[in-house]
Amino acid sequence: MDRIENFITRMPKVELHVHMEGSVRLETLLKLAKRYKVALPADTPEGLRKWYEFKDFNRFIEIYITVASCLRDGEDIELIAREFLAGQAAQNIRYSEVTYTAYTQYAFNHLEFSEQWEAIKRARAWGEQELGVRMGIIMDIPRLIPPEEGERIAEWAIQVHGDGLVALGLGGPEEGNPAGKYQKAFDRVRQAGVPCVLHAGETDGPQSIWEALQVAGSKRIGHGVRAIEDPALVAYLREKQIPLEVCPTSNVCLKVYPSYEQHSLPRLLEAGLYVTLSSDDPPMFDTTLTNEYLVGYHTWGWNLETIQKLVLNGVDATLLPEAEKQQMHAGFVSEFKHLLE
Ligand SMILES: [Zn+2]
Repeated sequence: MDRIENFITRMPKVELHVHMEGSVRLETLLKLAKRYKVALPADTPEGLRKWYEFKDFNRFIEIYITVASCLRDGEDIELIAREFLAGQAAQNIRYSEVTYTAYTQYAFNHLEFSEQWEAIKRARAWGEQELGVRMGIIMDIPRLIPPEEGERIAEWAIQVHGDGLVALGLGGPEEGNPAGKYQKAFDRVRQAGVPCVLHAGETDGPQSIWEALQVAGSKRIGHGVRAIEDPALVAYLREKQIPLEVCPTSNVCLKVYPSYEQHSLPRLLEAGLYVTLSSDDPPMFDTTLTNEYLVGYHTWGWNLETIQKLVLNGVDATLLPEAEKQQMHAGFVSEFKHLLE
């Protein structure tokens, strides 16, 4: 391990775009599937890794739903949330804003929202006390559901805002499911003071990003990598410094870009856009946040300055109160110095 790899591994981090259900460990998925007699195409972690070799976004959704069907009660949710936090702690990720799709478990497994939320809160408290890592939840509307169900999720979000929830999100297949479909849900939460953070500009183009900004006033853009296709949007995002949550390995696995070399990330940085780095669904894409930084170093030759800047971008783009952000920012800067001594 060279000096920069060593720094990346040990530096404190935050992560803004990572899915709880997309982070289930392969061993845990096998265990839960066995318990609930859910058929999986493989019965070893290696076999599952093969299944995870995605062809497109629709196949990804299919896998996602299979994983969700293995989460049947509060204990399962608490288990995956604890394991998630342990994984973050192992990478020195001090704070995560984690997307969680309560609706899937509610609709498929008849798991009441309150039971899910209690489980999340237990794991959250445990992580803070035992591991010293924190998380805020972004509860998302999966784009395939009817608008009225989106409003149901909005009501849940309002209920728990400030009690573990930091924002309402929007995920799932972009094409054919524009953000405007859920206009009422976004209006409702914004009136109640809940911020929105939407996925956009991943499988669909710049128009989807414009819509996320117009329909929901999205505070950050989940992915947003295809903004590069529209010079007016690039200019707007630069002027407003709206953070993009860029997940390079996810984009390559889901064929948004054919390779790291062809990924838009270097161009986004060059254009002066506000870039943050995340892992999306780490075990599904065989990655980690640490690995995403290593990819940046090895593929694009990031130096220490760029790496530190991206970490601090993440800190400043969290939805934490201003004073907490500043404190974390200053703390990270001094830890960086210390690590390099
Ligand atoms: Zn995502």
